[in-house]
Amino acid sequence: MVSDRVRNSLMQPDLCHREPEFSEILSRVRQKLLQVFGGNGDYTVVVFTGSGTSALDAALCAAVKNKVLILSNGAYGERLDNIVSAYNLRKKILKCEWGEPIKIEGVDRLLREDESIDTVTMVHHETSTGMLNGLREIGELCNKNGKTFVVDAVSSLGGEKLGVREDNIDFCVSTANKCIQGLPGLSFVCVRRGKLEEAKARKRTFYLDLYEQFYCEEHLGETPFTPAVQIFFALDTALDELLEEGINNRVERYASLAKILREGVTKLGLKLMLPLECYSNTITSIVLPPGISYKSLHDEVKRGGFIIYAGQGFIGEKIFRVANMGNLTGDDIYRFLQILDVSIKELHSTSKE
Ligand SMILES: *Cc1c(COP(=O)(O)O)cnc(C)c1O
Repeated sequence: MVSDRVRNSLMQPDLCHREPEFSEILSRVRQKLLQVFGGNGDYTVVVFTGSGTSALDAALCAAVKNKVLILSNGAYGERLDNIVSAYNLRKKILKCEWGEPIKIEGVDRLLREDESIDTVTMVHHETSTGMLNGLREIGELCNKNGKTFVVDAVSSLGGEKLGVREDNIDFCVSTANKCIQGLPGLSFVCVRRGKLEEAKARKRTFYLDLYEQFYCEEHLGETPFTPAVQIFFALDTALDELLEEGINNRVERYASLAKILREGVTKLGLKLMLPLECYSNTITSIVLPPGISYKSLHDEVKRGGFIIYAGQGFIGEKIFRVANMGNLTGDDIYRFLQILDVSIKELHSTSKE
């Protein structure tokens, strides 16, 4: 859900990406993103054309030396494992049930048991369940033990409290089209500069080579390959909107929308998948009402003007998800709740006929 201002920013004259006008946009966007990530001169931001997964791919290929510890409690934790496995990197997995919090003691024990682990990776906001995983103490543990910390903040940057410095993150990955409220097609890694030099020698991928991408963006003012130029226009505008709104204000707006949503669905008699205190500010996973399939609910709600999202993997038949990311107000949430109520009643009455 982007604003008209972001959408309208696409309508500019065609621009060649090897011209100084594009270099200016690239440099501006990287600068603003650094601010959003909470970075300083020790950090830099590298932008890729591609969805969030492409930047995760780039970050993991650049970060892991010998062996990585993957902390997983949902579909996106499993994706980190899939990326690492695709490159045949050595790994250890701390696998929790979906929606179960990751325990620091377990991480600490695994790090002590296996000294060949040099990197730890985890998802901040596990979008498959709506669970917000704590970063701070894992970041501290990595710092204490000299481990590289790689964080998937794809669905949390701009929507949750997060800072690469406070949370001691070495590689932090996010995307244009979630809480940043831009359009899909660009993703980025905020990386500690010291780690880039180390990564230079590890050339595991050609297209998603973080060091190469950094070198071209930083020293040549361009991307090695053709970027999604128009999506940069939208991202530039979306970042202006975010900084004008204020990052803390956006986090609070999302939190208050989620509160309205969660109280509303509970009042409708629906059950939340997770305890309230486990949730992020932006995703609510809701148990499907008995006797109603996801598809029938999706189609009915869509006729009312809203899109809900299925559960991923094995919980696909059990829950549905509602996101409150984007250019939304409380009125949008109240209207959604009304449509949801009417849709469920309609589906119950037609199933009785
Ligand atoms: C959306 C998302 C991704 C990336 O998905 P893409 O489709 O590649 O953009 C990765 N991790 C999390 C936690 C996400 O929510």
